[in-house]
Amino acid sequence: MRIGFIGLGTMGGPMAARLLDAGFELTVHNRTREREQPLAERGAQRAASPREAATGAAVVCTMVSDTPDVEAVLLGEHGAAAALEPGAIVIDMSTISPEAVRRLHASLAEREVALLDAPVSGGSEGAQQGTLSIMVGGDGAALERVRPVLEVLGRTITYVGPSGAGQVAKAMNQVIVAGTYAAVAEGLALGVAAGIDVEAAHRAVSGGAAASWGLTHRGPNMLRNSYPLGFRVRLHRKDLGIALDTAAELGIPLPLAAYVAQLETGLIKRGYGDEDVSAIARVVREQGGLDS
Ligand code: NAP
Repeated sequence: MRIGFIGLGTMGGPMAARLLDAGFELTVHNRTREREQPLAERGAQRAASPREAATGAAVVCTMVSDTPDVEAVLLGEHGAAAALEPGAIVIDMSTISPEAVRRLHASLAEREVALLDAPVSGGSEGAQQGTLSIMVGGDGAALERVRPVLEVLGRTITYVGPSGAGQVAKAMNQVIVAGTYAAVAEGLALGVAAGIDVEAAHRAVSGGAAASWGLTHRGPNMLRNSYPLGFRVRLHRKDLGIALDTAAELGIPLPLAAYVAQLETGLIKRGYGDEDVSAIARVVREQGGLDS
């Protein structure tokens, strides 16, 4: 099965490498063409455009930044859609708007091409190790046809419903991350301000009801006030925007997500957009005067 893979960034690069190592025939394309070179050295064919990457491919994977980027690589000039044969399947693994997914789904359906929205959680480590959690929306039969592809990339592959449902699940994930990180930052700030042995306290609360991935893996960043990647603040802010837009369409408030989105907007404005999301603690610490 030939796969066209478009978008070879932090996530897409290692994901494409895993597919090559698993024996799939791969044609790769990246806007910054040099990023194709390491994959070409491992046996991938290079393509000059998304359209060329899709030519002759049964499956096309896209892993680009945001909604307009997915629209551009699929439907734009030199986009993949024009080259796809009826029966082909597009798996978009980027995190984008569920509403846009439904529009893209309808547009590709006119060409008898299926679109699965399959955003992921698990970070760059998960992309490298093939341990991503993949949330899939779209046609269930199309998912079964590409399951062997997804099994190379993820440890859990969960069908969550029709087109756009995968992106809604991912938005849920990002709302939960927002609240968790903000609460971890506040809890740790309390201990720092009180002057107790906060590393011991961190160990203690990590074993109780407050345990979470964010507390265990990002709490130490917050205590050091140092935020190496990780997952960029600006990408998480984009994802909270998707969640808040979706909530607005549904007419429900998400006050916690809205608050954290505001903190992240301020961080980006002040030049911290490329730090890890745990930099939310930077603001909490500043508000408490902990670093002055
Ligand atoms: P990244 O490192 O910034 O890579 C983005 C890739 O998309 C780059 O290869 C970029 O090309 C390409 N691209 C962006 N806009 C494009 C356009 N208009 N046309 C063509 N190519 C375009 O981002 P990433 O971390 O891999 O994230 C990719 C997606 O996965 C995002 O939606 C993100 O929210 C999601 N995600 C990321 C993580 C994570 O931990 N990083 C975890 C889960 C999900 P250039 O090389 O030319 O810039």
